[in-house]
Amino acid sequence: QVVNYAPFTLLPSAVPSALFEQAYAVQQDFNLLVDAISQNKEFLERTLASTIKVDDFTARLFRIHMQVLEEGLAQSVFLGINRSDYMFDCGVDGTPALKQIEINTIAASFGGLTSRTAAVHGRVLKVLGKSKEASRLLPNNPSIGLALGIAKAWELYGSQSAVVMFLVEEVQRNIFDQRCVENELWNRNIRVIRKRFRDVFEEGSLDDAKRLYMDGQEVAVVYYREGYVPTNYDQQNWEARLLLERSRAVKCPDIATQLAGTKKVQQELSRPGMLERLLPGRDEAVARIRATFAGLYSLDMGEEGDKIAATAIADPDRFVLKPQREGGGNNLYGEELRQVLEKIRDSPERTSYILMDKIKPQPAMNYLLRAHSPLQVSKCISELGIFGVYVRQGKEMVMNKAAGHLLRTKAIEHADGGVAAGVAVLDTPYLV
Ligand code: ADP
Ligand code: MG
Repeated sequence: QVVNYAPFTLLPSAVPSALFEQAYAVQQDFNLLVDAISQNKEFLERTLASTIKVDDFTARLFRIHMQVLEEGLAQSVFLGINRSDYMFDCGVDGTPALKQIEINTIAASFGGLTSRTAAVHGRVLKVLGKSKEASRLLPNNPSIGLALGIAKAWELYGSQSAVVMFLVEEVQRNIFDQRCVENELWNRNIRVIRKRFRDVFEEGSLDDAKRLYMDGQEVAVVYYREGYVPTNYDQQNWEARLLLERSRAVKCPDIATQLAGTKKVQQELSRPGMLERLLPGRDEAVARIRATFAGLYSLDMGEEGDKIAATAIADPDRFVLKPQREGGGNNLYGEELRQVLEKIRDSPERTSYILMDKIKPQPAMNYLLRAHSPLQVSKCISELGIFGVYVRQGKEMVMNKAAGHLLRTKAIEHADGGVAAGVAVLDTPYLV
């Protein structure tokens, strides 16, 4: 086993306080939206119809979703933990605007490790003689909020002896982040077990009431920190996933909520009238959500897709080309975007992607500290994430909260990639 420190910036990064507040203010709206999409079979079916014809991974998830619905949902308590990510787009007049990059509805990470960065950066500022600035760093601990959501779902499931199961990777790279959430649960006297898909395949079973058991132990909540990329699955793992989804256990997220987080869904949401249909009677929430949208474009076959594909080929630096993948490092930019799009422009393969306007933040200088890497000053941009937590029992929302934030910073020469991908590092917002 090898332990490295998590990568971080030497200094906190400036974040406009108005945009920071805006991001917090819209989080409960996004929680409601994700939850509404997850319950809207017709919307998911229509939205993903073209994607699942060409994208095998999304198609497999979708098939499980349909199978579980046909059988009838055994689960009655729903827990969502998401993270909505933003960049600060620099307008022509230099005013920054909050623009959503994406919303992560499965395995949204770093809520644990980020709770430590304010202390680290406070200390650095004090060493530099900046005590006043240090005292202005906001405390932040998303792992408590995430654990409170899991604890609420566990309580509503209603079995004192049942455990919470963290579904984790074959090879652990981010265990300490997960432990922060886990510790909060043990502190509340909730037992936590850590298992892999492979363990579920070998030890998992359902009883007549579809209660989930692992080696004889009842599971109340399954918290996925795995299962969001194709490489997480072999045939046995798919079977394990199906078993979990069929069960009564609270899945965080259930498969419908995972699908609600696809890039294709994000793109469809930006169509005029779509938010209004998904959140009827919530005009203010709709306006807050829409204000964070960048331009998003469908590449479905037809005139609309032909047109935007041609525009992007002519001016690739205006756009990002995104497949239905998570975890960083999958998007295409610039010349590469042009080449790929040129190759697939007349083929249905293009419908496995969406196009998005490229956000252009104002860079700032910082040092990125990473184990075994040389220390150098870099021109950087930051991405702010807000954690959202909600719990629904039947039709009733019993918890809906923003649970804290995450700031990640990367050097501008990397177009893509998060902390886990080895590109971005942990940071702390310094509100200006
Ligand atoms: P993933 O699911 O892989 O995290 P994202 O949509 O978050 O996919 O994109 C990964 C990274 O690519 C982001 O963290 C960001 O750095 C960059 N990125 C994504 N969309 C845009 C965009 N519209 N403009 C600029 N950079 C983007
Ligand atoms: Mg991302």
